[in-house]
Amino acid sequence: MKITGIESFVLKIPTRKPIALDYPEHRLVVAEIRTDAGLTGLGYSLVFGGAGSEAVHAYLDTRLAPVLIGEDPLFVERLWERMYRVDRGIKRQGIAAYAQSALDIGLWDIVGKAANLPLVKLWGAATDRVPTYGSGGWPHYSLDDLVGEAERYAGMGCRYYKMKIHDPDPRVNRERVAVVRTALGDRVRLMVDVNQKLDVLGNIRQAALLEDFDLVWYEEPVLADDLAACAEVARSIKIPVATGENNYTRYEFRDLIERGGVRYLMPDVCRANGFSETLRIGRLAAAHQVLVSPHVVHELSLHVTGALSNGHLVEFIDWTPPDLFDGMPVCEDGHFRISDRPGHGIALAPGAARKYRM
Ligand SMILES: [Mg+2]
Repeated sequence: MKITGIESFVLKIPTRKPIALDYPEHRLVVAEIRTDAGLTGLGYSLVFGGAGSEAVHAYLDTRLAPVLIGEDPLFVERLWERMYRVDRGIKRQGIAAYAQSALDIGLWDIVGKAANLPLVKLWGAATDRVPTYGSGGWPHYSLDDLVGEAERYAGMGCRYYKMKIHDPDPRVNRERVAVVRTALGDRVRLMVDVNQKLDVLGNIRQAALLEDFDLVWYEEPVLADDLAACAEVARSIKIPVATGENNYTRYEFRDLIERGGVRYLMPDVCRANGFSETLRIGRLAAAHQVLVSPHVVHELSLHVTGALSNGHLVEFIDWTPPDLFDGMPVCEDGHFRISDRPGHGIALAPGAARKYRM
């Protein structure tokens, strides 16, 4: 089989309230990989909030897609290495990593379709049903928005809800967590997300104010570049630390693990160089008693989570309009069942490319 063409484009998708209060749109950088066997692979990277999508698209289209033309898509490892090394002066972080992720996801979609297997089974499934947590709680939400969203996820059976703690005053964050805790009671456990906004001392102070809520985890405490500071926070607070949505390679994740303290790793398949690298990161974590709870794009990361013995929860941000994807998994009793469709099982809905294309 040979790759005969790759069509890439950007989709701009408006969100609804309350998510739209903080992120009015998201964008997908899409790559459709065609082959001479008639099989096609869909790859995409979610660019959360949209910023930088043009650059991701340009890098994918001009530097990475040409590497794949004429090659056999079943040699994913070989093609991944070629893409990784094509511009060694541009590391596979940020924009270049988003671009490589989309193409790697598209290649694996072809492999699954050629094998007539869903990726989770191609990789040796640990499960075909993965628990999920509702995620949101952004800073522009009113308390009513916050509780309303948390209740909606709880209504879908989610046993977990994650919210942001972005107020500069840690007491305000405590109060917002307390309001959600009171509204949901014991049926739902909570996580909080700092999104890199504090330093070590700020996190120690903030976490001390949240200890009595029995939080599942305390997420991304410091700038994602600063692995040493993340380890210091993890050693200094009593709530388990989760991080990794803004880390990109097995090397960064190895260093995160070796510095110690982090209990949950959250690679994003659309950032961490695709399914290929995320699987490597997950298996590395398994050797260190660390659980893997991938960041967003649950419709894709379900396959990785289901294939790992240390796969934990997938993140559910219910933002996609019903006319965007065909094959979107449905949350039932707080879980997603991974479909038996070959590949990753997701296609663009008829008309979606036309409607949302930039
Ligand atoms: Mg996060």
